[in-house]
Amino acid sequence: MKIAVAGTGYVGLVTGVCLAEHGHSVTCVDIDENKVALMKAGVSPIYEPGLEELMVKNMERLNFTTDYKDAYKDADIIFIAVGTPEKQDGSANLSYVYEVAEQIARSVEKDCVVVVKSTVPIGTNDKIEDLIKSNLANNVNVYVASNPEFLSQGTAVRDTLHASRIVIGVEDEIAGEVLKEVYKNFDCPIVVTNRKSAEMIKYASNDFLALKISFINEIANLCEIIGANIEDVALGMGYDERIGNRFLNAGIGYGGSCFPKDTKALHWLANFHDYELKTVKAAIDVNESQKLKLIKKSRKYFDSLKGLNVAVLGLTFKPGTDDLREAPSLVNIPLMLEDGANVKAWDPVGIENFKKLYPHGITYCYSIEDTLRDADVCFIFTEWDEVKNFDISKYGELMRRPIVLDGRNCYDLISAKKANIIYDSIGRETINNLEISFVYD
Ligand code: NAD
Repeated sequence: MKIAVAGTGYVGLVTGVCLAEHGHSVTCVDIDENKVALMKAGVSPIYEPGLEELMVKNMERLNFTTDYKDAYKDADIIFIAVGTPEKQDGSANLSYVYEVAEQIARSVEKDCVVVVKSTVPIGTNDKIEDLIKSNLANNVNVYVASNPEFLSQGTAVRDTLHASRIVIGVEDEIAGEVLKEVYKNFDCPIVVTNRKSAEMIKYASNDFLALKISFINEIANLCEIIGANIEDVALGMGYDERIGNRFLNAGIGYGGSCFPKDTKALHWLANFHDYELKTVKAAIDVNESQKLKLIKKSRKYFDSLKGLNVAVLGLTFKPGTDDLREAPSLVNIPLMLEDGANVKAWDPVGIENFKKLYPHGITYCYSIEDTLRDADVCFIFTEWDEVKNFDISKYGELMRRPIVLDGRNCYDLISAKKANIIYDSIGRETINNLEISFVYD
């Protein structure tokens, strides 16, 4: 089957490469010439474990181009995997998706199936179908199917090759049969439903996970107040199969390209239909304030961060990705700078992207030791393995005032109790081995 994929971001490129791995011939289209040049040279423009290797391995079945007309004109299937970012009002910006739909309408010269992989509000597939049909340049049949994506950044290749499920939303048999053929070698349940239900499955799944995270974060906040330990609480809860142990790690909130925008978009859509999704609204509100939890904690130790050396460990929204979208670092670092702090930041893969946003005013470090040296306080925003495996006793040796504010609970409290530091994490007792009074200045 001849497949084209519009958009070579985290979803599009991973989809294209994994379909090539399954023997399909795939042309990946992007408007970004730099990205296309990199991919043609066998270089992945995004950091995603295993992606570049798989791309290089399947190069003979992969094409990369900016020429959408050429890619779409005789494709059997065209996947739309462009971004659907958040608009100011919280609704989804569908301009990229609609632009691709129009490009497809102007290009296709034979019958084909257009598959919407981008996360789009309920009802968007219908609009895409109308848009394509009303702009067709040639007399062909175009069938539109919804096929939402559930991969996680950092494990995207594994999540795609070993998907938990494939959801297909169709209004006609032809599109359903074509998609089943595409996925015939994938060993997972396939849920076939109508397009609106498929669109809703994606939002409901993401919003449920966001809700689970915000729920455990609120319980963690209460644990801190009443003296319970969130890790033990989560462990005890997680053994219950009805609850499960995933997404129960308390922290400074979710970020990334999906949960923040997908919660807001569904909430917006419900409001538009005069319905308030109260649980989703609560998840959003809790997450907004949770992102500032460490800054608030820092006020226990300092009136202000002015003139202090602040070490930041982790810039990306989670480990395993170079993606900064909605990362807690993006909210917190500007506040530190505004306060007059001297910020030193470390991240194993996120520095180059962060530098594009903040080329000046931050000292970027390439080792954890350099970041911590002479620091007055350390903020941990991302639970990279490098941080989790870093010897906790070194904070006391390297920092001027070893106050460690850990937003991801990277260390166990037994180790923290042996270290010469103040260790303040999420939903757990604060360890103060320095025996100093709190507010310094
Ligand atoms: P992204 O921003 O990483 O990539 C989008 C790509 O589309 C960019 O490379 C951009 O240049 C390209 N593009 C824009 N207009 C184009 C056009 N007309 N033709 C061809 N290419 C074009 O986005 P992403 O993170 O891969 O997300 C894509 C969609 O998948 C979104 O709707 C998102 O919500 C959804 N999704 C994302 C994830 C994730 O973890 N990132 C997971 C599941 C679903």
